[in-house]
Amino acid sequence: MPSIDELTTALRSADLRVTQPRVAVLEAVYGNPHADTDQVLTQVRTELPTVSKQAVYDILAAFTTAGLVRRIQPAGTFARYEARVGDNHHHAVCRTCGSISDVDCATGAAPCLDGPPRDFTVDEAEVIYWGTCAQCSAPNPPTSPEDSSHSPNRKDLK
Ligand SMILES: [Zn+2]
Ligand SMILES: [Zn+2]
Ligand SMILES: [Zn+2]
Repeated sequence: MPSIDELTTALRSADLRVTQPRVAVLEAVYGNPHADTDQVLTQVRTELPTVSKQAVYDILAAFTTAGLVRRIQPAGTFARYEARVGDNHHHAVCRTCGSISDVDCATGAAPCLDGPPRDFTVDEAEVIYWGTCAQCSAPNPPTSPEDSSHSPNRKDLK
């Protein structure tokens, strides 16, 4: 986790004015990789209870534009945000529980795949691995998104 100093430095170097909500949102994204807007909002409100959802939306949009965070949105899911930017990594999405994990890029740089038409200038190939996570492949997989949280404190719920 970066310190508050490092977070404010990151904001300044992206030409963004340092405000409490911005620092809190950036901290929340660092602490919760692949969190959606509601999860970021919940986290931010533990520190700043009066921050509005719209404010968090706007801050996340500004961060995405500035390259401070990366926005991902696998088909059929909410937009997620992460602070791991610039390395062209990919994501493995579990069809059963929706968990998302990072996958290093096999080629190391975009575009990752060969084969676009000759007259088409590719700057990115969208690679998402869809499948079943280890937990859902286990003998007693969670059966619904409601009880499928992978957080340790819910593991014992049956
Ligand atoms: Zn799963
Ligand atoms: Zn990621
Ligand atoms: Zn790749």
